[in-house]
Amino acid sequence: MVNRPDSPLRVTQTASPTPAQVISELKAGHERFKQANSIHPHASEARLHELEQSQAPHAAVLTCSDSRVAVELIFDSGFGDLFVIRNAGNSATPGTLASVEYAVEALQVPLVLVMSHSGCGAVGAACVPEHLLTPTLMDHVGHIRNGLKGAGLPFEPQVDLAHAYGLHAQITAQELINSSALLRKRLQSGQLEVHAACFVLHNLEINWLGSQRVA
Ligand SMILES: [Zn+2]
Repeated sequence: MVNRPDSPLRVTQTASPTPAQVISELKAGHERFKQANSIHPHASEARLHELEQSQAPHAAVLTCSDSRVAVELIFDSGFGDLFVIRNAGNSATPGTLASVEYAVEALQVPLVLVMSHSGCGAVGAACVPEHLLTPTLMDHVGHIRNGLKGAGLPFEPQVDLAHAYGLHAQITAQELINSSALLRKRLQSGQLEVHAACFVLHNLEINWLGSQRVA
């Protein structure tokens, strides 16, 4: 089988990529998607068979459940490339943190990306509560609201939603770091980076908000 020269991610992993290499891979995949040049790598049945016994994704991505935030499409990636964790509003919950820790510890991912998006209903509800929510949803959205308030986002006279979307990704990334001794240890050793970003629906851009540090 001839290797596809345009395949951005290795099928056989020989050594873990660095966090910087993974960021470059993600940015290159996103650029292809944005330019309508996606190559849809690693989408075959054969690729899935190669991965049947093990997986070695290059990044853990925590993002929103929103149907428009299709992670593998946005980064032009495929089977085995990304360990994706999703909930409404990409919040730091016990399940989220456990999933991230699994990716870091068991799968040795060198990069965790927390990616929010414009037009997020959960962040919107946290900023401008309009609908009657269930108690569980109130808790979930209240956590987002408290984080934004704690970060100093002004809610009066009007909240800056565009700012809130990106800020929430940074807050979530920081919450993951603050809640996990494992993440802090890997960050401090340089084996891991935790980045925040925000996907903008109307122009397909990703605002990269930088790597997050141990507080
Ligand atoms: Zn959302």
